[in-house]
Amino acid sequence: MVTFENVSFSYQTGMETPASSVVLKDVNLHIKKGECIVLCGKSGCGKTTMLRLVNGLAPHFYAGNLQGAVRVHGMDIPSSDLPKISRFVGSVFQNPRTQFFHMDTTGEMAFNLENQNMPREKMKKRLEEVAYHLHLEELLERDIFELSGGEKQQIACGSVYASLPEVVVLDEPSSNLDMESIQKLQKLIRTMKEDGKTILMSEHRLWYLSGMTDRYILMDNGRIIREYEPIEINALTQQERTALGLRAVNPQQLHIMPETANRNL
Ligand code: ADP
Repeated sequence: MVTFENVSFSYQTGMETPASSVVLKDVNLHIKKGECIVLCGKSGCGKTTMLRLVNGLAPHFYAGNLQGAVRVHGMDIPSSDLPKISRFVGSVFQNPRTQFFHMDTTGEMAFNLENQNMPREKMKKRLEEVAYHLHLEELLERDIFELSGGEKQQIACGSVYASLPEVVVLDEPSSNLDMESIQKLQKLIRTMKEDGKTILMSEHRLWYLSGMTDRYILMDNGRIIREYEPIEINALTQQERTALGLRAVNPQQLHIMPETANRNL
């Protein structure tokens, strides 16, 4: 569904690209339909850039800074048909405020559907279904600026989910959330996974993704250096996790759910 083949990428706009500005180096990754893949690694290793290449939002894309091929469902990215890509790939950013176009939650959830010219009645029905399915009913018809960070993140997920993308890209979605909001995010992502969406995300916190991630991809300095099965990640020591840039949590302090409490990731 998503492939990176020998991908190198630089944000440099000049003709000559110094080797030091190449932020992705010979990356190969093949993601199957329905897989949930988590990119991890220290800040600056290239996770966000990978996501931007998939949703077509990498700046300088058209300046010849991409070598190799990025494909989503056989479509080459960058594509001249960005609207088609954005229908196919839904994105949830680290800070959801940067992705809102509307002042009210229902308008925001409808945004992608309006762009698809969905008839009003059908859109209303779709939004009701999404709100029910994702347990967002009490967030409808609200002023977006009065929502908490976690609620904003839920609306961002609902908005993406409503437009039925095949691929969902999430960039450190838990980074600004409290524990209760992370648990709600966990449910939202689980629903997407159960619905067969292909999910590519970057995260430092891994405990809340346990049971839904198929593979963890560790990056360092623009390269993929290792792939972990979930069972291997669970077996890492605290010291190893810290070395990999993973954020530790203390489940007792944070009152996390009992079934995840033994996965101190
Ligand atoms: P991560 O998500 O792992 O923190 P990023 O993909 O954001 O890593 O960044 C990878 C590298 O690319 C970093 O060195 C960062 O400084 C650089 N970078 C990211 N965005 C830009 C940009 N818009 N212009 C120039 N350099 C950038």
